[in-house]
Amino acid sequence: MNPRVPVLVVGGFLGSGKTTLVRRLLADAQGRGLRMAVISNEFGELGIDAALLGAGEARMIELAGGCVCCSLSNELVETLVELRRRVDPDRIVIETSGLALPFDTQLHLYRPKVREWVGDEACVVVVDAERADEADPLFADQVHGADLIVLSKVDLVDTPTLDAARARVAELAPDAPVIEAVHGDVSVDLFYPRGPTDEGAGGAEDAGGRAERGAGGRAGHDHGHDHDHRAPHAHHHDAWTSTELRVPAGLSEDATFAWLDARKGARTKGFVATADGVRLVQGVGRRLELTEPEGPVAPELLGRVVVIRRRDG
Ligand SMILES: [Zn+2]
Repeated sequence: MNPRVPVLVVGGFLGSGKTTLVRRLLADAQGRGLRMAVISNEFGELGIDAALLGAGEARMIELAGGCVCCSLSNELVETLVELRRRVDPDRIVIETSGLALPFDTQLHLYRPKVREWVGDEACVVVVDAERADEADPLFADQVHGADLIVLSKVDLVDTPTLDAARARVAELAPDAPVIEAVHGDVSVDLFYPRGPTDEGAGGAEDAGGRAERGAGGRAGHDHGHDHDHRAPHAHHHDAWTSTELRVPAGLSEDATFAWLDARKGARTKGFVATADGVRLVQGVGRRLELTEPEGPVAPELLGRVVVIRRRDG
């Protein structure tokens, strides 16, 4: 059984591009041979076909007739517990309805029977770049509670619209890293970050104690799509890089937090030796959590933290 299972809550207005993101995550899991479960609270709206779900041992469960952030929250918790017991998925995605509050949904991950095994969790809100001027207060509430924003359809808007969308998102969720998706193409590492123990993370270190590799982020216009010519601007480039940092040992937890916060990682993962003991660090944007690891940590892993950041500051 997986010791801890990463859980993503994916929210956003109807038509914002949630399903495109979930499909992307499913394809990635299948490519890695991982079992991913999707709990969908958007009955009848999902375009994911059964063939795609069946092929890679993905499992989809629909919770209908209510909202997972409130009226169906007990059902959500029961479903998570059952999934854990019967399927033991490697990854779980909770796709909330367009009317749900993703952050409120995320809070249910801290309830008993779930918090014991939920690992890295994050609340992702997908915002349609064409409709970021949405006046419905629910939209603002959804975006405000996000750990990560996916700004979708950036290839479909002109520069003023894109700039306005960026400004609105920055106003509503100033601490949330914003991932711009072109044709739904995003770096999955941002949703499932790797730590220094995970294969492929970090790479070889140079004398400066840092190593860099591409996190799969790429310039939006370089991947061969036949995109239209309404927005032929360089603004769409959204590149991310993964860096392994050496965190000083012996700092207090607060000082460690401040040290890491200053590095501005969109995702942060690794182990540090603080003055108060060894801590597992997991971060999404500025929400950095330092927790006591569940088992012993190999000495060579201490002080190694992988951060994913935007390539150009
Ligand atoms: Zn609700």
